[in-house]
Amino acid sequence: MAEVTLTDLVKRFGDVVAVDGVSLDVPDESFTVLVGPSGCGKTTTLRLVAGLERATDGTIEIGDDVVNDKRAYERDIAMVFQNYALYPHKSVEENMRFGLEQHGVEEDIIEERVAEAAELLQIGELLDRRPSELSGGQQQRVALGRAIVREPDVFLMDEPLSNLDAKLRVQMRAELNKLHDKLSTTTVYVTHDQVEAMTLGDQIAVMDAGEIQQVGPPTFVYENPRNRFVADFLGSPSMNFLEGDLERRDGRFYLDVGSIEHEVPAAYDDALAGYDGERVVLGVRPEDVTLRPDGIPVTVNVVEPQGEKTVLELDLGDQPIKASVDPGVPVSSDDRVSVEFDRESVHYFDAATGECLT
Ligand code: ATP
Repeated sequence: MAEVTLTDLVKRFGDVVAVDGVSLDVPDESFTVLVGPSGCGKTTTLRLVAGLERATDGTIEIGDDVVNDKRAYERDIAMVFQNYALYPHKSVEENMRFGLEQHGVEEDIIEERVAEAAELLQIGELLDRRPSELSGGQQQRVALGRAIVREPDVFLMDEPLSNLDAKLRVQMRAELNKLHDKLSTTTVYVTHDQVEAMTLGDQIAVMDAGEIQQVGPPTFVYENPRNRFVADFLGSPSMNFLEGDLERRDGRFYLDVGSIEHEVPAAYDDALAGYDGERVVLGVRPEDVTLRPDGIPVTVNVVEPQGEKTVLELDLGDQPIKASVDPGVPVSSDDRVSVEFDRESVHYFDAATGECLT
């Protein structure tokens, strides 16, 4: 097992800076997810760790070794790709054995490891089949099996579930969780899917424009976003943002967002102390917008039942906001209702820098 440490990592492709000074500690035995929008540099970061790209600058350590100058096959890692990358003319068993044979592992150890991985992944019955005779989910299991038999220090996974249908993806997510519980192999996992990141990672690193915006346990990052980008990226539907002028009157802060004057809870007074007269953005998650008598009057625009919750699109003056409410709540479009923002869960951001102030 090993931790992975990235320090000031940079990768340029000509004028494109794909990775722009990434420092990240992936603790031993952790499941760390790199998550961010398309093009933010996640895959390049993973490929740098794998040795499939050379770093322009910075260092990559696996365990105690700086591996910058080591080739991919000299690094003790196993990679699982989105497209499975199985050899089409080899059987499942041959696919799983191949990497070990290349590394000169003894035959009885190969047999033992393949049998163990096949049992773990429940693909024992498929060992004689070719990849073309397998479903997508089964192929992905084989790709995982091929990584597992290597018993590497680190698994690197690049969107391994993205070619599976929604239901299978959820199922495989649970299986990956179980697998990690059993094997505890340090894992770096890349995805653009924030739900996948939240459910799989014990640590997530949110990336944007080649930089890591925030690292931490998923729930912590969700509840304490460092900036507006992170707050917006995590959560579905996304956080509501209302921008306005902050003003201090009679010892209290008020944020005038046009349609309403929002009274800032006293708990945030210190954090906002330097912002009297500045532009500030109020952030409130849809699940923290609750229907309450005597709240802020809004008009219901759209009611969208989603099974376990119903999403309401509301007009707050001329500003649209979203609320997630219990599915049983009796509201229909054009209703006038009133809402309240959960005072414990609101955030305030510097409008210019996006930095979270609270
Ligand atoms: P996606 O989720 O779409 O795969 P990503 O976050 O993994 O995106 P990368 O694939 O790492 O992003 O790409 C980061 C940036 O680097 C992008 O602007 C991309 O176009 C660029 N890039 C990646 N590989 C190369 C390459 N071989 N040559 C030139 N530019 C590249």
